[in-house]
Amino acid sequence: MSKKVRVRFAPSPTGGLHLGGVRTVLFNYLFARQQGGDFILRIEDTDQGRFVPGAEAYILDTLEWCGLVPDESPRHGGPFGPYRQSERKAMYRPYAEQLIEQGHAYYAFDTPQELEKMREQFKSDTNPSPQYDRATRLSMKNSLTLPAEEVQQLLAAGTPHVIRILMPESETVQLTDMIRGEISFETSTVDDKVLIKADGMPTYHLAVVVDDHLMQISHAFRGEEWLPSAPVHVLLWKYLGWENEMPVWAHLPLILKPDGHGKLSKRDGERLGFPVFAMNWTDPGTGETTRGYKETGFLPEAFVNMLALLGWNAGNDQEIFSMEELIQAFSMSRVHKGGARFDYEKAKWFNHEWIKQTPAASLRPHVATLLQEKGINSAKEQSLETIIDLVKDRCTLLPDFVAQTVFFFENPSEIDLASIQPKWNEQKNMFFIELIRNWELNNDWTVATLTTSFQELAAANHLKPGELMLPLRIMLVGGKFGPGVFDIAAIIGKEATLQRIQHVLAQLPHPHP
Ligand code: GLU
Repeated sequence: MSKKVRVRFAPSPTGGLHLGGVRTVLFNYLFARQQGGDFILRIEDTDQGRFVPGAEAYILDTLEWCGLVPDESPRHGGPFGPYRQSERKAMYRPYAEQLIEQGHAYYAFDTPQELEKMREQFKSDTNPSPQYDRATRLSMKNSLTLPAEEVQQLLAAGTPHVIRILMPESETVQLTDMIRGEISFETSTVDDKVLIKADGMPTYHLAVVVDDHLMQISHAFRGEEWLPSAPVHVLLWKYLGWENEMPVWAHLPLILKPDGHGKLSKRDGERLGFPVFAMNWTDPGTGETTRGYKETGFLPEAFVNMLALLGWNAGNDQEIFSMEELIQAFSMSRVHKGGARFDYEKAKWFNHEWIKQTPAASLRPHVATLLQEKGINSAKEQSLETIIDLVKDRCTLLPDFVAQTVFFFENPSEIDLASIQPKWNEQKNMFFIELIRNWELNNDWTVATLTTSFQELAAANHLKPGELMLPLRIMLVGGKFGPGVFDIAAIIGKEATLQRIQHVLAQLPHPHP
């Protein structure tokens, strides 16, 4: 029987979540849902020096906003907990001791000064940054070089030490990657990574293998930047006797800068004016806030859809996918090996498409909140959803709804008179005076009656309706934008419509007939 699909996202809680991290979550999530498996969130917080308060809650909140909620996590619990590595500390050391007994790891007692001395001593033109490896380990203070009794004495005396993996001299380590196929590494190029640190905490390398095993992870999908660590992990799976249960690997391609040169960073976003994080992140140390997609006005559906297409496609032209459609269509074999170039204009295009296809009732809470921030209370406004439907084609980011709807609630604060004046004349002035009289008597204030009466009056005055629509629009909304003028008039009502026309007429030259 094949193993139940269990995948994990294993972030270190060091700050905001980069969109590449969210894409890793997404691919894990889609695969888990498609295969009827579990999606686990494990917090890899063994590096106490890099721990940032609030980062874990931020990560979980971000996944909630994206609709990528884990089945098991520190917040949701589950049968394989705890889901924070710092709370699992005691579990790791016995595995490291087992590796020492088997001759695959060793104790190292070198002080930071001794390590520094080694780097100085072995530094050469061909090897500018010597590592703790087959070339240097036998010159160091460790259980490979010291007599067994001395090692025991040092340990008994509580001497600070680490445990390192003993990398084989010259072996080829192979792994099969779902995206890259067969990959091999020469062990001679990899250093003796620390497995247990001086503070007793495991390093990422040991903890990730032990936890993937204990949590019965079937597939491990992670960023390409982890590929160089993969041989260490494969060897640990083998040495710990779990080789047959090793997860299937997939190393996801990088997300590249818009110019295609190098990995997209938070700085690129700042430089080019777009968010790189999923949600706003405020660094607790500096108090500095980095902008996120959520606060910029992206719908989570659009953000997720855009991420799915960064490095993957369905093999056809389809670009708009709901989460359900992504779950159906996703396959790791269609993830490209090469990096995916990020394009913010395309990201905005996805948002625009999603705004257009999202029902007004679902957009309403977002729009109401944005209007509230401008001091407009639209909570009781019955026509808010009609208004949203009228303007949503014109909105790319959610805050665009403010400019596109504010004139439904308030008289325009500025009127673009300059766009009316050049073609303004006595005939037009007369027309609007008559229009006010005509509409004052209109007791059936609908788009249909307003359109008809306007057109009839224009015809009677031998004027083209097209030439009158622009002034009317500017009178009602203040500028050359907005949906159909009669739609606007119908919604704002008779009083506001006539008042706005009168207000602008009074500012225009009014030649006497
Ligand atoms: N803790 C690692 C990270 O921060 C996890 C890498 C992996 O998935 O193995 O991304």
